[in-house]
Amino acid sequence: MNQDYSINTRCVQAGYTPGNGEPRQIPIIQSTTFKYDTSEDMGKLFDLEATGYFYSRLQNPTCDTVAAKICNLEGGSAAMLTSSGQAANFFAIFNICEAGSHIVASSSIYGGTFNLIAVTLAKMGIESTFVSPDASEEELSAAFKENTRAMFGETIANPALTVLDIEKFAKVAHAHGVPLIVDNTFPTPVNCRPIEWGADIVTHSTTKYMDGHGAAVGGAIIDSGKFDWMAHKDKFPGLTAPDESYHGLVYAEKFGQEGAFITKATVQLMRDLGCVQSPQSAFMLNLGLESLHVRMARHVENGQAVAEFLESQPQVVSVNYPGLKSNKYNGLAQKYLPQGGCGVVSFELKGGRKAAEAFMKNLKLAAIETHVADARTCCLNPATSTHRQLTEEQLIEAGIPAGLVRMSCGLEDKKDLIADLKQALAAI
Ligand SMILES: *Cc1c(COP(=O)(O)O)cnc(C)c1O
Repeated sequence: MNQDYSINTRCVQAGYTPGNGEPRQIPIIQSTTFKYDTSEDMGKLFDLEATGYFYSRLQNPTCDTVAAKICNLEGGSAAMLTSSGQAANFFAIFNICEAGSHIVASSSIYGGTFNLIAVTLAKMGIESTFVSPDASEEELSAAFKENTRAMFGETIANPALTVLDIEKFAKVAHAHGVPLIVDNTFPTPVNCRPIEWGADIVTHSTTKYMDGHGAAVGGAIIDSGKFDWMAHKDKFPGLTAPDESYHGLVYAEKFGQEGAFITKATVQLMRDLGCVQSPQSAFMLNLGLESLHVRMARHVENGQAVAEFLESQPQVVSVNYPGLKSNKYNGLAQKYLPQGGCGVVSFELKGGRKAAEAFMKNLKLAAIETHVADARTCCLNPATSTHRQLTEEQLIEAGIPAGLVRMSCGLEDKKDLIADLKQALAAI
């Protein structure tokens, strides 16, 4: 669908245009396999000489339709769905890194991604250096090595809510001849499109706002098509040198700058690792995408109202929300997220763990969950859940005070959410 249409219209209609008499809603092609008349027809698909479907571990029409919508929303050249956000980030990195490679990543990222990079990729021989998202260009540059192959960050980090200076990161990555990968899960393309600011590859946990209803785990990878792999031939042999598993085909030559990255990730990584999204999940994801622009505005409205309310309360030590004037990242938020970021707010209560437990127990609308970005408001106290193995001292060291609560504001009426917070604060 034409990019001249507003993103609101593209959320509803991009990716699928039915022909005369065809279904209005995207068909769920619940089939593992596809039928061909001759072995020759099928052989061409296996040799990547023809395009078409043969096995849903590699490609499925329903998943491709939804990927095409997300690709359109992010302004990319090609996209694919994955089974989860973790798989998306793993594939995005592993598509251009191998044993002996090194990556530079922002230290302010999702815990699962931090573990993926610091522990699991390290076991596979991929080294990493973590940098502060606030570091200067010179400091960021100093983290690069001869074998650095990618830079990684999150537009709005989960759960720290730092806002990434995408232009700064892109400039440094490009000066070192490597692509910038940005996880855009929290703002979604409705509120920020990292490719417009210089990011080369965008990833998503579609489990969050894109799905938006806590219904299906999923992920997506979008390529901008703007990174010139051939100009850095020696760094990216996976894309620029022959792949013997496809008779010596060179992805960057055969599929060009715009198609090489996603084609390789599909026909090689998906073939060998198989982290596919099911057509059923992709269908549900598309239902979420159709209202994404409407929902994000409400998540932001509620997040902002809750953050402002909490900031005025005596029981609250501090509130972290990039939309607040008092926030360290408000300047970057105004630049990259002019319509707001997302509905996740974190705040510290006076009285530590005990106060947080009492407060959360008394909330009536917000459920205690290890989830964010749901239509229903939810909250979490890291000290008694995700980080409960840490001592008081370790919590302080990790920048997670015992009284910290992360609240993901849903789509309820903000008046009801604030009234709920008021009575729960009074009950501490
Ligand atoms: C949740 C999340 C992930 C992981 O996604 P899953 O779908 O849970 O695998 C990655 N990045 C960010 C920013 C997330 O919030």
